[in-house]
Amino acid sequence: MSITLSPWNRYPKISSEKVISWTDRTKPLPKTPMIAYANGRSYSDVCLTSDGTPVLTRPLNKFIEFDRQTGKLKAEAGVTLQEILTLVVPQGWFLQVTPGTQFVTLGGALANDVHGKNHHSVGSFGNFVLNFELLRSDGQRLVCSPDTNQQWFEATIGGLGLTGLIVWVEIQLQPINNPAMVVQSESFSNLTRFWDVNSKHSSTSPYTVAWLDCAATGRKLGRGVFFAGRHAGALNTYPTHPETTKSVPIESPVSLINRFSLKAFNALYARQPTKPEGFIQHYIPYFYPLDAIKNWNRLYGKKGFFQYQCVLPMESAPEGLNLLLKDISKSGQGSFLAVLKTFGDIPSKGLLSFPRPGATLALDFANRGNSTLRLLSKLDEIVKDHGGALYPAKDGRMSSEMFKHSFPLWEHFSESIDPYFCSDFWSRVSR
Ligand SMILES: Cc1cc2nc3c(=O)[nH]c(=O)nc-3n(C[C@H](O)[C@H](O)[C@H](O)COP(=O)(O)OP(=O)(O)OC[C@H]3O[C@@H](n4cnc5c(N)ncnc54)[C@H](O)[C@@H]3O)c2cc1C
Repeated sequence: MSITLSPWNRYPKISSEKVISWTDRTKPLPKTPMIAYANGRSYSDVCLTSDGTPVLTRPLNKFIEFDRQTGKLKAEAGVTLQEILTLVVPQGWFLQVTPGTQFVTLGGALANDVHGKNHHSVGSFGNFVLNFELLRSDGQRLVCSPDTNQQWFEATIGGLGLTGLIVWVEIQLQPINNPAMVVQSESFSNLTRFWDVNSKHSSTSPYTVAWLDCAATGRKLGRGVFFAGRHAGALNTYPTHPETTKSVPIESPVSLINRFSLKAFNALYARQPTKPEGFIQHYIPYFYPLDAIKNWNRLYGKKGFFQYQCVLPMESAPEGLNLLLKDISKSGQGSFLAVLKTFGDIPSKGLLSFPRPGATLALDFANRGNSTLRLLSKLDEIVKDHGGALYPAKDGRMSSEMFKHSFPLWEHFSESIDPYFCSDFWSRVSR
């Protein structure tokens, strides 16, 4: 019996005759080509292998140790951020860095060195990894930290799962008072205004992000809503979060997202009332708005979609973003809201980490075949010309040239790849 696996964007899909379900962290690895598939929340073939065996790591889901005095937490690599938050938030702790979904595993967060809304204030996920165990196909078990097995530490953080199997991870959490966030929202009328609003909030708010209307044109190009947030101080009462989630029940044969539905949705969103004075919100809707609709990825139909995320250095970002948004709005293909945020200058630990100082733009494109691929190649040229890079965790089609341009240390990194580990992403970009 074969099993079909795909990343979150449902493109590409692969059928595997054989999978390995990883349930026991003490077991050695088989001598067979493989890659870890954790919770499949990448929008990329980094977690797929057509030539090898997927190793399902989600069953590796036990907590090992949690010190509620110091906020140090050690757990197996298949434990999700949601499981961690459920345990630690009631005890006054929170993740230092979280991506926009809580359904990613510790192993996946480490292998892509994920970033959150607070990159400008604390850096990326790997900066809070104290140590982890790396299991190599030759049977070696390497405990890696910034001081021990440093080569493997730096290659595995952001190392796209290619250096071996991450067995367990120990991270440092941050203290919080309660589950509430103080959030300020403010609309901006175009891209120029975004820079003003961003610089006002970045120096005072640990979390910042903007949602852009990528269908807007002319003087409204780059209009959107800015959100700044921080963990709330002591409160007498704070919001709770209901367990219910909505779901997209069936997969539509075609994408339900088209030029008209998008334009209407984005325009409505950009005009929503904002609250610059601030309001209190539970951390779940603040950090994970998309998690509220289970299987929202089905809206794009059978062919799936692409997510495109780039970063541009600060000095070329205003011009580069302007060109990217012009091409996107002209194409009518950009989807719902685009996310724009600035990265700070705290260096990442990984050789292949994506975050670097600059501005990062992320958005979805329904897969319309060649017309979408042509548009994305055009965007690549703008990113390349402005000294930018693409995010492997959000990519199913970048060229080898674009990858090498984005990650100049790729050859040095490749010395640490485990000979039995391979992914479709790596086969494509390392040619
Ligand atoms: C709604 C949504 C919002 C998102 N927002 C953000 C964001 O804000 N910032 C951001 O950075 N990312 C974001 N992402 C992307 C996501 O955080 C990453 O792709 C993450 O790596 C997915 O983790 P996963 O556990 O599902 O791993 P998978 O997608 O299954 O795998 C990801 C990679 O990790 C490797 N891997 C996983 N476990 C192990 C292991 N135990 N040992 C070795 N390698 C392993 C895999 O081989 C693969 O290369 C978002 C994704 C979604 C769906």
